[in-house]
Amino acid sequence: MEEKGAENGVAAMADCYQGFDPAVYLQNNYTPPLADLERKDSLLSWNLACLHRAFTEGNVSGELLVDIGSGPTLYQVMSGCEVFNKVLLTDFLEVNRKELRSWLQDEGGGSLDWTPFLQHVCKLEGRQPSAWTEKAARLRQVIMDIVPIDVHRPQPLALDVLPSAGADCLVSCYCLESASPDLAAFTRALGHIGRLLRPCGHLLLFGTLGMSYYIAGPDLKIPTIPLNEAQVCASLKESGYTLIRLEVYTLPQDTNVWFDDSSRMFFVKAMKV
Ligand code: SAM
Repeated sequence: MEEKGAENGVAAMADCYQGFDPAVYLQNNYTPPLADLERKDSLLSWNLACLHRAFTEGNVSGELLVDIGSGPTLYQVMSGCEVFNKVLLTDFLEVNRKELRSWLQDEGGGSLDWTPFLQHVCKLEGRQPSAWTEKAARLRQVIMDIVPIDVHRPQPLALDVLPSAGADCLVSCYCLESASPDLAAFTRALGHIGRLLRPCGHLLLFGTLGMSYYIAGPDLKIPTIPLNEAQVCASLKESGYTLIRLEVYTLPQDTNVWFDDSSRMFFVKAMKV
């Protein structure tokens, strides 16, 4: 009975996502005010700084980085692509994978210009912003594929996608709490993705705190789990991770957003036990 309820919750989320519009999502979340890269206190400046630090402080390394629930975005692998020789992008929806393929194949006509993000990460790395073309080329070189994923399946990726040893590092941004019907499903999803990671591999996880919905299409309000920090920590522990660091960011008071009801986000660096 309980199992059926859990299945129904996951199926309802999957239905909801059928209306996801990458262009609307990118416009809402990856343009100012959230992505005002001129402001050090903007959300995206914080996201990129966290990732830069995590990937350069030395202990996150290996061959393969897997991004879980990439959506239509690329900012989350712009630091990691300098450390890992292989990057795998994944998403549940073909519309998002198509958006990513269009950037990868340099077709033009994508819904967002990633140049300012590439320039910003170059600056974080102490390079000239003009080095963004080299970073874009590096990213295109290391992205090995863009594949379907379902974090609610015990085996989230097709069997032959990863080497048997698993990935060296997972990054996942704003996916699990946005794709899960409840806290139990969020915790299970953390466990499922952990199976993709080698022992002692790292998980870099961003999420929103206290968010109950976000707008992802002209008429689409996606319900989400309003997590708190204690729940995130407990779910990580239950799913086989050791927490290394949890940071919390609060949107500046003058940042007005209408497309979700959250003003706090977390970043976690954890290790698979
Ligand atoms: N990672 C991107 C970012 O940082 O903006 C996108 C986050 S978006 C809020 C949530 C993503 O979760 C969407 O791209 C959606 O397609 C994906 N998603 C929804 N259901 C999923 C599932 N069952 N398994 C994996 N990803 C899922």
